[in-house]
Amino acid sequence: MIKYNPEKISKKLHVKTGDVVVVLTGKYCGKRGKILSVNRYEKKVIVEGISLATKHKKPKKSGEVGGIIKKETPIFACKVMNVCPKCGVPSRIGRRIIENNKHVRYCKKCNENYNN
Ligand SMILES: [Zn+2]
Repeated sequence: MIKYNPEKISKKLHVKTGDVVVVLTGKYCGKRGKILSVNRYEKKVIVEGISLATKHKKPKKSGEVGGIIKKETPIFACKVMNVCPKCGVPSRIGRRIIENNKHVRYCKKCNENYNN
């Protein structure tokens, strides 16, 4: 078990929960999906429909249904790239400062701000 020092982790990932991303490498190369969760300590993300693992579930309690369940497993965040909601093109994102020292993310292709 690795312990994380929260003070040493300052870098934010380029992706956020709810972002649509495209996978760049591996078996799911070129596939798009929505980010379900982000682990910025491990720099991993869970993308909807990507990196599915099959789990065989047995019914443990009465009333529970067993069977084969497909579940997403985390993949490294560096393997995914944001898809701009405005122009629909996979693109790098930048950050710029708006008023009150707030950052806003923007698409480097079309220069439009992201919603969040
Ligand atoms: Zn764009």
